[in-house]
Amino acid sequence: VGGGPAGIVAANTTRKNYPDKEVTILRGEEKVLIPCGIPYIFGTLDDLEDDAITDKILEENNIQLIIDEATSINKEEKTVSTAGGKEIGYWKLVLATGSNPIKPPIKGIDLDGVYFIQKNIDYLRELKKKVEEASNIVIVGGGFIGAEMASELRKKDKNVAVIEAMPSMLYGAFDPEFCRIAEEKLKEVGVEIHTNTRVEEILGGEKAESVRLSTNKSLITDIVIMCIGAKANSELAEKASLELDSRGGILVDEYMRTSHKDILAVGDCSGNRDFFTIGTSSILLASTATSEARVAGENMFQLKVIKRNKGTIGIFSTSINGLVLGTAGLTEEKAKEGGFEYIVGEHKTMDRHPGCMPDASQMTVKLVFSKDSEVLLGGQIVGGKTAGEVINMIGLAVQNHMTLADINNLQIGTHPLLTPAPTTYPFIVAAQNALTKIEKIMEVDKK
Ligand SMILES: Cc1cc2nc3c(=O)[nH]c(=O)nc-3n(C[C@H](O)[C@H](O)[C@H](O)COP(=O)(O)OP(=O)(O)OC[C@H]3O[C@@H](n4cnc5c(N)ncnc54)[C@H](O)[C@@H]3O)c2cc1C
Repeated sequence: VGGGPAGIVAANTTRKNYPDKEVTILRGEEKVLIPCGIPYIFGTLDDLEDDAITDKILEENNIQLIIDEATSINKEEKTVSTAGGKEIGYWKLVLATGSNPIKPPIKGIDLDGVYFIQKNIDYLRELKKKVEEASNIVIVGGGFIGAEMASELRKKDKNVAVIEAMPSMLYGAFDPEFCRIAEEKLKEVGVEIHTNTRVEEILGGEKAESVRLSTNKSLITDIVIMCIGAKANSELAEKASLELDSRGGILVDEYMRTSHKDILAVGDCSGNRDFFTIGTSSILLASTATSEARVAGENMFQLKVIKRNKGTIGIFSTSINGLVLGTAGLTEEKAKEGGFEYIVGEHKTMDRHPGCMPDASQMTVKLVFSKDSEVLLGGQIVGGKTAGEVINMIGLAVQNHMTLADINNLQIGTHPLLTPAPTTYPFIVAAQNALTKIEKIMEVDKK
């Protein structure tokens, strides 16, 4: 149930692992968008249709698609009822119902002109029309969706203000020095940023006309776009009395099985566990959703013990007018909060060699290691386009518990037109920088 990234990958993986089974996707909407591409329909892309997910992959893999909404599950009869009056039987049921935007209890939130980033093509078509008519836009929330929306709307010359309750944009995902670089870039393209600030009230007659901030300032606006996060859509599961976790996600084990043996849950609707602490995690990402879907599809009828979900690392990148920021695992702030004893390594270099190559950008890598075990806990990067894949390399190292010594001895491929120089490869040199600090500590200890 669900035709987003998690539903598609769960169906495809099941088909490949169990070719004798019939696989069906039940999807609420005729057309779905690539969710991560949504900010770009407001700037870079001409049309919403450019961001649509094609159903070709389902046809090619002999996966049946039914456009209808699941309304209830009968666990005893093993059937799903739909809004269109169907009753569909199953052997195994995978819930991939995704997430919905969070609606905060702000006065005026129900006024016309207040929008959410809903993954619904008709809703977004209406929002795109309103954006085109607007001159002034207030974005509430300075996470990566708020930052991407702001950057895209500036491409259409809209006056954009971002309101963020925390001390910086991208707070939590990055350490303060990286957040500052992101804010500077957004300011450079003309985005007005209000951090440490809350929206107290949205005011207007028939529609939103202004917002009142906790700083007592008011901003005139034509529309308000809420980007304050999403929560699991676990309604169907709750109705079927499946267990939920403390954040409202569907409770699953390492094989994505729910509290009922024939029902699995994957993606944003399922509960996440943190890779490091095994406590619940609030990170909702398409990359995590598809990884979970692969685990579900592989283990659906037969457990393949080594292929299990080890928890959410939280690896993602964002791009603000050419500036790429990426993060994987623990930041220094998170390591501190979590009570880890850690050591940091950093390196700044150019991402081509020589650094005067035409499309070269400066790249900065920061790594956080456990001081005790010297295992990599996380990394952050800022740079040009190359940074988007280097953060995946860092994520891979986190997932495989690589140590300072492993990274110091890493064998990599480099090329003048494509990568940083082998002599100053930032992932390796940042690890060496941390190694030097550890050696110094050891020398002091010896003395
Ligand atoms: C603007 C934006 C940008 C993002 N950018 C990134 C990014 O760059 N990188 C990244 O990793 N993540 C990003 N994300 C997060 C990512 O989009 C989600 O993590 C991802 O969509 C989760 O996939 P999913 O399949 O679990 O759920 P969804 O994509 O929410 O899909 C759920 C599906 O279930 C269907 N459905 C729900 N209920 C029913 C029902 N009862 N019956 C039938 N069908 C039903 C819906 O119609 C939908 O098709 C972004 C999110 C947004 C909103």
